[in-house]
Amino acid sequence: MSQTPELVVKDLHVAVEGKEILKGLSLEVRKGEIHALMGPNGSGKSTFANTLMGHPRYEVTSGDILFKGESILGLETDARSRAGLFMAFQYPVAIPGVTVSNFLRTALNARLAAPKGNGDGAMPAKRGIAPKEFRALLREQMGLLKMDDAFAVRYLNDGFSGGEKKRAEILQMALLKPEIAIMDETDSGLDIDALRIVSEGVNALSGPDLGVLVITHYQRILDYIKPQFVHVMMEGRIILSGGPQLALELEARGYDWVRNGKETAVR
Ligand code: ADP
Ligand code: MG
Repeated sequence: MSQTPELVVKDLHVAVEGKEILKGLSLEVRKGEIHALMGPNGSGKSTFANTLMGHPRYEVTSGDILFKGESILGLETDARSRAGLFMAFQYPVAIPGVTVSNFLRTALNARLAAPKGNGDGAMPAKRGIAPKEFRALLREQMGLLKMDDAFAVRYLNDGFSGGEKKRAEILQMALLKPEIAIMDETDSGLDIDALRIVSEGVNALSGPDLGVLVITHYQRILDYIKPQFVHVMMEGRIILSGGPQLALELEARGYDWVRNGKETAVR
């Protein structure tokens, strides 16, 4: 574990329409780790997630985001994705006429077309995956995630339930094999079914080759996902970090406990 963390966020300051939202956020995530970033509404969690993926509306005014040792601030969203960052959308769009399978093959081919590739031989360095090969891969991943085959031929997100949209996202993640995945679940009003699906997917996919950042204000997701690291965010920065026991404390005592005990709580 002496290696540089895949994702290093250094004293990040971000403004939206001239207003500073992130005020010095620092965080490190390595492959193989699951982190939970928690905080009340409006603390800047989604701002952080969107900034990580390079949403043009979020202006980094100072600080840096390093991915695998290099700053990605100059990279567009698609380049960040090809490099191995993945973000699950909070509100996935429906694409009638495009099947789940078609969409995923296009997404995978875009990822495989990465100019530098992975360098570790995990992905073929060719331009695309053959249809037959893709179908086999898709079937395998859907099997692992206990998904019905019929799902692949439905139109993407068209008439999907919340839980089905989440399944489509998790499947995309399974195929793209990102090194770091960011899941912003904050305001999506996930029902317990969707929450369970996300959690089971994360648990099924997590391992030494994947780092996960689960962003949420719900403590209840942590009944299903067991992060090794829990961070509490307030007013644009992380004010407290700890192990899994911190999530339990939050569940029992709420955010006010952190807010009020800030001076003594932060080491
Ligand atoms: P969280 O996800 O923790 O609930 P957000 O990142 O969504 O927090 O919001 C943090 C703050 O930034 C809020 O005060 C919100 O009003 C503001 N904000 C977020 N996105 C935008 C935006 N696109 N335009 C203007 N203000 C925004
Ligand atoms: Mg949010």
